[in-house]
Amino acid sequence: MSKNIAIIGGGPAGLMAAEIISAQSGFSVTVFERKPSPARKFLMAGRGGLNLTHSEPWDSFLEKYRDRADVLKKPLQEFSPQSLRNWCDGLGEKTFIGSSGRVFPESFKASPLLRAWLARFGSKVLV
Ligand SMILES: Cc1cc2nc3c(=O)[nH]c(=O)nc-3n(C[C@H](O)[C@H](O)[C@H](O)COP(=O)(O)OP(=O)(O)OC[C@H]3O[C@@H](n4cnc5c(N)ncnc54)[C@H](O)[C@@H]3O)c2cc1C
Repeated sequence: MSKNIAIIGGGPAGLMAAEIISAQSGFSVTVFERKPSPARKFLMAGRGGLNLTHSEPWDSFLEKYRDRADVLKKPLQEFSPQSLRNWCDGLGEKTFIGSSGRVFPESFKASPLLRAWLARFGSKVLV
């Protein structure tokens, strides 16, 4: 029996979940977004320069999560700042470290990243 997974909300979290579920489960995935197009807040985030993550050493990076650091340690190890940079690279967007240590896509914007991301979904994920 073929199954279809529904994801409510087409922001970065929903799109990432859709991509991973589709790649790892083989189920088809449909993302339901209430706005006319997905990831509008993500696009707004890119207007002043999209800050993706930080390049600081692991211990101080983890400390930023304060009392949730214990809970988030494992997921952050599995999807680290470097994983995020690799993910961007895979979408054709190289990243760079700014003078503050923050990490940005070379274009500084979210729109090229979102375009490449949605194109990569192809017919596997409907948005
Ligand atoms: C001005 C600004 C600048 C920012 N700068 C940065 C930055 O530089 N770096 C950074 O990492 N973050 C930045 N952010 C934050 C970033 O945009 C958010 O962290 C990110 O968008 C959160 O993603 P999300 O998928 O969790 O939620 P959202 O982006 O809020 O996505 C949730 C989606 O679900 C949809 N939805 C909700 N309820 C329903 C429903 N019932 N049915 C269907 N759809 C529904 C919403 O319409 C929305 O599209 C910035 C935000 C703003 C506003």
